[in-house]
Amino acid sequence: MEISALQKIVKDRYFETDNAKGIYHTALWFHEEVGELSSAIASGNKENAKEEFADVLMWLLTLANIMDIDMEDAIAAYLNDAGKMPSK
Ligand SMILES: [Mg+2]
Repeated sequence: MEISALQKIVKDRYFETDNAKGIYHTALWFHEEVGELSSAIASGNKENAKEEFADVLMWLLTLANIMDIDMEDAIAAYLNDAGKMPSK
């Protein structure tokens, strides 16, 4: 599945309710899921980590949708920036 297709699915399913909550409230949910992923990684529970990776990705795409950011464009720009390394 391509990122744009996944982002559209997330938009179709969650945009209306998450946009109504607002970006800050939705960002709190995203951060909660990042915490759950960190806990799953720390515990070594791969099945739980698998679920939490998906949660984090879904909430990330929801945030991008609320801000009207096309993640496929964002990632293409990132990858085309030859000298760019992941931020730490
Ligand atoms: Mg979760």
